[in-house]
Amino acid sequence: MQENHQSYRRTVEFKPGARNLFFHILTACNLSCRHCYINKDQHGGNMLNMEDIRTWLRVFHGGRVEETNVIFLGGEPTLHPQLPEAVRAARELGYSSVTIDTNGFLFHDLLVRLSPAELDYLSFSLDGSCPQVNDSIRGEGVFDVCTRNIQRAVRAGFAVSSIFTVSRMNLGDLPNMPALLHGLGVRRFFIQVVGIRGNSGRMTKCTQGVELQVARRDWENVVPEVARHAASLGIHVTFPKVFLDVSEPFQCAGLVADNYFVFPNGRVYRCPLCEDYAIHSMEICDGELRKRPPITERELFPLNIPEGCVFNRILQPGNISYDASGVPVNKIACCMLKEEIVPLPKN
Ligand code: SF4
Ligand code: SF4
Repeated sequence: MQENHQSYRRTVEFKPGARNLFFHILTACNLSCRHCYINKDQHGGNMLNMEDIRTWLRVFHGGRVEETNVIFLGGEPTLHPQLPEAVRAARELGYSSVTIDTNGFLFHDLLVRLSPAELDYLSFSLDGSCPQVNDSIRGEGVFDVCTRNIQRAVRAGFAVSSIFTVSRMNLGDLPNMPALLHGLGVRRFFIQVVGIRGNSGRMTKCTQGVELQVARRDWENVVPEVARHAASLGIHVTFPKVFLDVSEPFQCAGLVADNYFVFPNGRVYRCPLCEDYAIHSMEICDGELRKRPPITERELFPLNIPEGCVFNRILQPGNISYDASGVPVNKIACCMLKEEIVPLPKN
């Protein structure tokens, strides 16, 4: 395990012109994770048919020459029997990269019906380095299935990444992840912070999310160090910035980036924090993308507040601290602002 790669750290700026489509092709899932962000009351239970998937992919690509990336999500996207066809449709349309985020169950023989060359990343969600931690969040037996399928995917030649959603339930276990992922052959590690929506929102409704959200000191004591350790093992790590000093610049991706969070009932959000509410900026009707009239999330993005992210302040303010005079001691960054630690190849 002693790889000792050198690495460098950088903030990933919002890339002008790059478009990212987060495409929820269904909301159904075989699991019921404690922090699941899917809200079927808002986004329905239907599964898009192949014709709609093709049309919607065309709507968001539109023949553009700039970078356009798609991430297929659910629910559990591998429950869709035509996911391989959806991946191929995205490739044919010219998407720059195609990723699938899975809970690890890989239904419908995905590894057999897709070739590694057709996919940029197959990304597995693991929220703990052992069954005790992971399965207390994601369900009994899930760790074993997920790690077994990571190994199968790596053996079959797929580029495999892993997503870990940090909350108070598992922050203490995060330092154990680099060794596990290195042993499994995972190439990229995405550390996320729990969002207070879906199940997490229901769990913490009365307490403003404080049981799940991690304080700045705890985040900064653990996450960057774990990322450095993973990078020293040759794993490329991405994690959200979350906390900004008051003097640091703030940008809202809703104003400066081109991200679309699309649900199978046609709702299109520009900010994932809003997904528990019917304030989506756009919707797909009859195969066309239409702007919705005010008031939507769009009208709130420009609000300039000392706490930084306006929807964090409204929907999940448990991570903001104030001084005795009521002034915030830090700002909350856009949830899409990331840092990376990139390992350098060894000589
Ligand atoms: S978090 Fe993902 S895997 Fe877990 S229940 Fe929700 S959709 Fe399924
Ligand atoms: S997370 Fe906050 S800063 Fe980012 S797009 Fe949403 S409202 Fe804007």
